[in-house]
Amino acid sequence: MASPDPQNTPNSFGGIISSQGTPPDLSGGSNGGLHIPISNDSGFYGYNDEKHLQHMGEKLFVQRRASTNSDAGRVAFRSGLTMTPVTSVIEPNILSMATSPFVKEEESKSEANTGQISHPAPDTSPFTQECSNILQSFDKCLSLRDKYMQVSLQRLGDNPRDHDGHLHELDPKIADVSGVRPDADISAYTSPGSEDKLPKSPYKPWRIYPKPPPPHWHWIANTEPVHGGDEAEAGKEDFVFEKCEIPGGHDGWSFGLDEMGVYQVYNSDGSGRKPVFKIPTIKEYFLDLEFVLGVISNGPTKSLAYRRLQYLASKFDMYYLLNEYQEVADMKKVPHRDFYNVRKVDTHVHHSSSMNQKHLLRFIKSKMKRTPDDVVTFRDGKHLTLAEVFASLGLSAYELSIDTLDMHAHQDSFHRFDKFNLKYNPIGESRLREIFLKTDNLIEGRYLAELTKEVMTDLEQSKYQNCEWRISIYGRQEDEWDKLAKWIVNNKLYSHNVRWLIQVPRLYDVYKSNGSIDTFEDIVRNVFKPLFEVTRDPLTHPELHVFLQRVVGFDTVDDESKTERRYHKKFPYPRLWDTTQSPPYSYWLYYMFANIANLNNWRRERGFNTFVLRPHAGEAGDTEHLISAYLTSHSISHGILLRKVPALQYLFYLKQIGIAMSPLSNNALFLTYERNPLKEFFKTGLNVSLSTDDPLQFHFTKEPLLEEYSVAAHIYKFPQSSLAELARNSVIQSGFEMELKRHWLGQHWYLPGDAGNEITKTNVPNSRLVFRHRTLQEELAMVRCSGL
Ligand SMILES: [Zn+2]
Repeated sequence: MASPDPQNTPNSFGGIISSQGTPPDLSGGSNGGLHIPISNDSGFYGYNDEKHLQHMGEKLFVQRRASTNSDAGRVAFRSGLTMTPVTSVIEPNILSMATSPFVKEEESKSEANTGQISHPAPDTSPFTQECSNILQSFDKCLSLRDKYMQVSLQRLGDNPRDHDGHLHELDPKIADVSGVRPDADISAYTSPGSEDKLPKSPYKPWRIYPKPPPPHWHWIANTEPVHGGDEAEAGKEDFVFEKCEIPGGHDGWSFGLDEMGVYQVYNSDGSGRKPVFKIPTIKEYFLDLEFVLGVISNGPTKSLAYRRLQYLASKFDMYYLLNEYQEVADMKKVPHRDFYNVRKVDTHVHHSSSMNQKHLLRFIKSKMKRTPDDVVTFRDGKHLTLAEVFASLGLSAYELSIDTLDMHAHQDSFHRFDKFNLKYNPIGESRLREIFLKTDNLIEGRYLAELTKEVMTDLEQSKYQNCEWRISIYGRQEDEWDKLAKWIVNNKLYSHNVRWLIQVPRLYDVYKSNGSIDTFEDIVRNVFKPLFEVTRDPLTHPELHVFLQRVVGFDTVDDESKTERRYHKKFPYPRLWDTTQSPPYSYWLYYMFANIANLNNWRRERGFNTFVLRPHAGEAGDTEHLISAYLTSHSISHGILLRKVPALQYLFYLKQIGIAMSPLSNNALFLTYERNPLKEFFKTGLNVSLSTDDPLQFHFTKEPLLEEYSVAAHIYKFPQSSLAELARNSVIQSGFEMELKRHWLGQHWYLPGDAGNEITKTNVPNSRLVFRHRTLQEELAMVRCSGL
């Protein structure tokens, strides 16, 4: 949609007006308490803007051709057509048809240029003042995210789990969320011998228990009796809770909920009641949010970002046209490795819908046949067996089919998230969901545990497919964590191919209306208090301590398309939030972030693993969701709305924020497959991966992740090299341990460009990663140089 700002006339994009390029002044105007950003412009980029730009672009192109002005480059800059000199767009090494476009000699020759855009010295800079202002505001947005990532310890090396005995202590200046920064000097990591001089890791090597299988192994059914001794060597170490080491308490350290609804950590070394760790307050967060919103909804900024993104996508097309045959040749040279045996992680899948329908149906039928007398539920004052439940539904095992189960969300759920939620109920019956798909029920989640084990076995048999399952903590009661941890530990739900994420559904309004809670603070307390307790003294919740070692992060979920009404000029703190309305997304995310940040700092202090924030964002709803996630989150799920917010998309590109996309899920709910921006995002160079979301509702086959790759390959015509790159991205985004990532991607997977690639493991051609790395370096250099 067009910008409603009257000063920002559509013509202004051509000659960028400096006042528009200046970020909003935040120094004054804040009057204590919480300040709510009131957006005048959502930052959305509508159809009209795009058409208008296209027309302007065409006009300018004609003018440029007709003009005899030798300073054509400058005209182009002013018009926002391109920010990079033409010579850099068509790099000779990309155009060359030499056997390898990125031979080492060329690299050393062009070393002076690496990491720097080839533009003249500042005084003759082609950037106008207006462009500089825009680029500086981008730079400020980048450092804002850095601030949040740093305080919450979500970067590589911040987590004691990253330290596998080989990782050195990383300089905080070069560490970022998904690896070493693309513009960092990595010579110390790559030149032989110099690695010994790097500072040693302060942590003892992280031990994965049960131990992962050795590099070469074949799946063997785990049915024969376990012999002591060397089963660990054979990759069959079984999980035994008693073998887990449970450390004691942290003397002198304590924690408490402050008046702003954030758990703070204190120690008794004389610093009094001052929190040990300093996390941005909610006021600071909303001001930062407002700043980024101001930047991305500025007209000229949108135009510039849009053009950069177009340029990046076209540049990839050009790279691919010229290097396709070389890529294929490089991949053919790799022995053994192909699409099927590169490691893939399903970076976004909800545990209770992780099995497909056929699997669930088979399971229900087998239970009805084999154990019809299991007492499974308590209803209207009496206990009911499985047979009685089905009798009350008027169904026999024979009559059950996929059609009667009715859990596919293909036809009637488009833009109906409410209907989609009902699809979790087999045969439309919430009591069957309660019996088969819940962890906390009369049978203590026994059926779901059995089902989960079957899905785990399938994954282990496939060997190369891994999952990060989301499982819910609702925040209704404090004992939810212990129940969940006991369910995992007692049922031994451990698999080499599975790690867990905790999803917190944003259901404040539901709990409030049924009286489970009084204020929003109750949710904060129920979700976070047990985590601080177990960090202070793991013996208070031993199962939880053990379970948390396999938890990689947090997610927050709900229907994003719900309207968020602003009832308050200033948001009340959680202890005062007692209206019937749920707080907006940005408020939820702050409280997740702030509490996780303090928790992480304490856990790192203790040598325990830390967590990342990987929420659902940008599936539907307001742009503000994506901005909150940009500031606070390690990576996101969905992100399809970034296609409408070019400036924010550009920031996601520059920071390489992971986006776990699920086009089949979007196709059923929010956006048809062919309009999904996955292909454009991938070409632009955003850090995207493919994930399934809900195989129970969307997929047909036994291998839903392969189904996802397969459909994308068909519809978007992804070549093998791109599928391999997607798979590599998925491992990098995932929370699997450093030791495993090294085995799956290469010893130095976290280094940028080809330095981090081992084609024999990933099947991604080096030239592809060199291209991505150089392109990103140029963009970053452009943004950074603007301030000179
Ligand atoms: Zn999801």
